[in-house]
Amino acid sequence: MTISPILPVYRRTNITMIRGEGCYLFDNAGKKYLDFATGIAVNALGHGHPHVVSALQSQAENLWHCSNMYKHPQLEKFAQRLVETTFADSVFFCSSGTEAVEAAIKFARRYHYRNGHSKKYRLITFEGGFHGRSFAALSAGGNAKAREGYAPLLDGFDHAIFNDIASVKQRLTPETAGILLEPIQGEGGIVVADDAWLIQLRELCNELGILLICDEVQCGMGRSGNLFAFEHAGITPDIVTVAKGIGNGFPLAATLVSERIAKCMTPGSHGSTYGANPLAMAVGNAVLDVMLEPQFLLNVRQMGGFLKEKLEVLVSQFPHIIAEIRGRGLMLGVVLKEASPVDHYTLAEKLCANGLLTAPAVEGRVIRILPPLIVDKNHVTEAVSLFSQTLGTYE
Ligand SMILES: *Cc1c(COP(=O)(O)O)cnc(C)c1O
Repeated sequence: MTISPILPVYRRTNITMIRGEGCYLFDNAGKKYLDFATGIAVNALGHGHPHVVSALQSQAENLWHCSNMYKHPQLEKFAQRLVETTFADSVFFCSSGTEAVEAAIKFARRYHYRNGHSKKYRLITFEGGFHGRSFAALSAGGNAKAREGYAPLLDGFDHAIFNDIASVKQRLTPETAGILLEPIQGEGGIVVADDAWLIQLRELCNELGILLICDEVQCGMGRSGNLFAFEHAGITPDIVTVAKGIGNGFPLAATLVSERIAKCMTPGSHGSTYGANPLAMAVGNAVLDVMLEPQFLLNVRQMGGFLKEKLEVLVSQFPHIIAEIRGRGLMLGVVLKEASPVDHYTLAEKLCANGLLTAPAVEGRVIRILPPLIVDKNHVTEAVSLFSQTLGTYE
């Protein structure tokens, strides 16, 4: 076997994708796939959304890059809109989820440092959590396989059990700076944080003067049926990371912060060459135009409800394969039984061969269903029927 020119770090299929249109992808043989994976919750508006395409095209004709030494109309507009529509008072732009998380971790340390508590540097993070692949993000994450061979990792992360307040309290020390979590764990297999637990975490942070950081890279930007998944619990975090859906496929990410965090940052204290790139800002504005339309989130909730209902019928039809359906909005997980005749990777491959793209989770026996947020009833019905046909081959 010869080594591939592309570093073999992905489980890549042999399918060559060449075109996307709306909720569908097309391969080089002309075969059509219903895309309920969206490149892992990225193409929130589907493929080739005309408004986003034209925003990128016209920006490409004007200015690609000018660095953060200058103002730019798309940047000012995008930051202003994010501040107006979210809890945030200030925004840092970068190009990937990992970078947004890295920034969040640095900002948390910097906040305590500037407030005279430089000994507060540790974060409580969670088993099953995923925050990216940099050293800080890996150290924060809870997946052993992703960390294999990279020791020593960074100090400063204490892993607690998700949805378990006692476990969080056990890991508190005078050095704890904050709590970092995904309101819905994505790679960890669509595990939803209990609303009551999030409220307890917020109260704990208030009591101790520490920060609540939500990693909404996967579950944010409308995917859960609210703009952010933490909103379901009615809480307000101090720092929130977003990426994936906000760029719809263009490398764009952001770290949103409240005023007391923003006040601790000064010129030179953080940065990114590509961050706030005019192309990315133009795309971000175009994505927001669509997401902030009044019916957008309503569609996510309605289609999410409809999809969950239909998938639950599959649980009763194939009780030997499926254990349960979980998740929120259009971020759903089909959990396979321990004794299922097929594992989740093989099932996802079969679904793909039958024309339905899904995203197997890293942990648990879970197939993630992450459709474009613009799906309609016909797409949902088509997806569930492809799922049902595929499951039928394992009777
Ligand atoms: C995907 C993901 C990341 C990492 O984002 P990249 O863009 O791959 O760097 C971080 N956090 C969560 C919750 C994610 O799902």
